[in-house]
Amino acid sequence: MLNLVLFGAPGAGKGTQADFLIEKFKLIHLSTGDLLRTEIAAKTEMGIAAKRLMDKGFLASDSIVISMIKSKLQENKDAGGFIFDGFPRTVEQATALDGLLEEMGTSISGMLCLCVPRQELVNRIISRGKTSGRTDDQDVSIIENRIKVYNEKTDPLRDYYSDQNKYFKIDGMGSVEDIAHRLIDTVSSL
Ligand code: ADP
Repeated sequence: MLNLVLFGAPGAGKGTQADFLIEKFKLIHLSTGDLLRTEIAAKTEMGIAAKRLMDKGFLASDSIVISMIKSKLQENKDAGGFIFDGFPRTVEQATALDGLLEEMGTSISGMLCLCVPRQELVNRIISRGKTSGRTDDQDVSIIENRIKVYNEKTDPLRDYYSDQNKYFKIDGMGSVEDIAHRLIDTVSSL
């Protein structure tokens, strides 16, 4: 199985690049942001609890996202591999993911970190907010909080995967196609 973690700050381009990798390597895309927005749209208890935090730029609770991922993995036991987008975002999530994959007899093949300067992140999110309709993309203070939370809670995962020799840094600046080629070259070498 080929299991990839697509990593990077909010606005780094994970969703955009995930599309190229899914197509090229025939992977199942698991985006916790998308899964949470589906729960919110369906007004489930999970969605309502998560929305309160997401609207302010904080993370949803580990237990909610881990249980969403667990059920998606169980639904797709025969998949050739997965691409995790926006997950894991905390060390607790990363440890849980390793455990879930181990139960399936597999593991993470590599973590691809899209590297983008801070001001560019804010610009990209603001421009996405003009068309996405996402409320968390339209307010600079919420965007700044998401980046702060990323730096505090999520960035340490680079060490988590580096310690396992699974960390690959990718330049996230340039054209969408150029970045996709960098990612595909790296994944092909795994
Ligand atoms: P972005 O990468 O631009 O922040 P996402 O769609 O991945 O966009 O996430 C949107 C929001 O959903 C996050 O700000 C966070 O509140 C919540 N979220 C997404 N994934 C997770 C996760 N793995 N753990 C906790 N909260 C999450």
